[in-house]
Amino acid sequence: MTKKIHILATGGTIAGQANTHGGYTAGKLNVETLLDALPWRPHDVQVSYEQVANVGSQSIHNEIWYQLANRVNTLSLEKLADGIVITHGTDTMEETAYFLNLVTPGKIPVVLTGAMRPANAFSPDGPENLLAAINVACSGQAKNLGVLVVMNSIIHSARYIQKMGVSQDNAFQSIPLGPVGIQSGTNTHFFVNQLAAIHTNNSEFTKAIENGSLTFSNEFKLPNVNVLYVHAGMDESYLRQWLQLSHEGIVVAGVGAGNLSQTLERLLANQVFQGVAVVRSTRIAAGNIARNMEIDDDRHGFLVAGNLTPAKARILLQLALAVKMPMPQMQTVYDTH
Ligand code: ASP
Repeated sequence: MTKKIHILATGGTIAGQANTHGGYTAGKLNVETLLDALPWRPHDVQVSYEQVANVGSQSIHNEIWYQLANRVNTLSLEKLADGIVITHGTDTMEETAYFLNLVTPGKIPVVLTGAMRPANAFSPDGPENLLAAINVACSGQAKNLGVLVVMNSIIHSARYIQKMGVSQDNAFQSIPLGPVGIQSGTNTHFFVNQLAAIHTNNSEFTKAIENGSLTFSNEFKLPNVNVLYVHAGMDESYLRQWLQLSHEGIVVAGVGAGNLSQTLERLLANQVFQGVAVVRSTRIAAGNIARNMEIDDDRHGFLVAGNLTPAKARILLQLALAVKMPMPQMQTVYDTH
């Protein structure tokens, strides 16, 4: 049976154009051009597409996320497609993937892809990646693993993927789980058939969308949550000024096991006292933050991010605040999503 795959294009290096001095501009070519460059089209696949944006993913913003979420929801729930592919820049691909992993229904596969080299590079990786993503989106099994990312023939789950390299083809890793599958030619092979982490149809936020308590309308604004990167020798007056900016939530990318200097610990405890949600995460790529190790989270009212990266922990906190989730439930959501 012919599969209907819908592409939502947002730009990135996959749609990038190289210049004559070794650099390039992301988000220049439209989705038709990307499709024309495919070496072949899978049989029995009908591809439709739309250009949602055309930007480098360093410029992806909340409104593009809302648009993507709303389109994925409509296409899935109204059965307008059998699978969705999203072309995206690689810099923030894991954030868009995780956002969609939390707010879309998982009725059909949703697969992000991009490229490490621009479309007119000597040997672009975009066409191969796009083809792989279309193939994965055709696989019925794909929807059981939440939103996926395919890069360099490897299939990653949105929950665990991280960009770990600046320019090499194998820039992405899934930490700590490892990849969930591999795409080779037309063969999609999954190593796992379910994830321990909650996603898509079971996510608290997809449920909130379904019951109408979360809507990405034009008036909607994700709460203002900011990440504080910790390093040795932080200046107290800088911290005090930073904390005076308006934050509805703070994710702190601490050192080691999410550790903070005593000064910062005290300042952040005071933020919690003033009603700001504070989440401890780590600046280490392979980290798992447990509660109450060197820091008394229970006493200060801190949340901990487990093995979510600071950028993903930020998205989870934005959504938890958006649905006005009570603080104790927020820790459960960090432990499970
Ligand atoms: N800066 C580019 C982007 O994220 C990098 C890429 O796509 O690989 O859009």
